[in-house]
Amino acid sequence: MPTVLSHAVAATAIGAAMIPPPRLPVWGLGALCAVLPDLDVIAFALGLPYGHVLGHRGLSHSLPFAAGLALVATAVAARRRLDAGSSALRLWAFFFVATASHGLLDAMTSGGFGIAFFAPFSNARYFFPWRPIVVSPIGIGAFLGHRGLEVMSSELVWIWLPAAAVVFGCWLTRRGRATSRRPL
Ligand SMILES: [Zn+2]
Repeated sequence: MPTVLSHAVAATAIGAAMIPPPRLPVWGLGALCAVLPDLDVIAFALGLPYGHVLGHRGLSHSLPFAAGLALVATAVAARRRLDAGSSALRLWAFFFVATASHGLLDAMTSGGFGIAFFAPFSNARYFFPWRPIVVSPIGIGAFLGHRGLEVMSSELVWIWLPAAAVVFGCWLTRRGRATSRRPL
């Protein structure tokens, strides 16, 4: 997996593209959705094997799970009135893409098992053919030192910089539109 922080960064960039103008509470909820799938590491403590449908990178990383979590997040956003200006469908689409981005990024990592994108209907595990992101070790201890540095520099290049480019591009586009609407 990329680190928790990098999943949140990716979700924020998706929020900038799908839910403009800046809506930090909604983006924050999307970031939470993008981080939640890795709670499945508890499966190791419960003795479930990695390849189990409820194991790491199993059901919680699937597209059906993303669709379900997006429904819950949309209901939370509506209840807390975070949805100003955005339709329920747009919010659901954002939360779905934010959650699904977790599995998509994991499928681009260099290690671990593949992602069960279609669980619970199939437990087949998938990777993308292109996997440039150095896989992050599970646990803080393993993350310290040279390995952690390698992971962070990889995520900086493949997640943080593209995310920053998306946010900056969205800001430029909105600014351009606002300027062109200004009376001469
Ligand atoms: Zn993961």
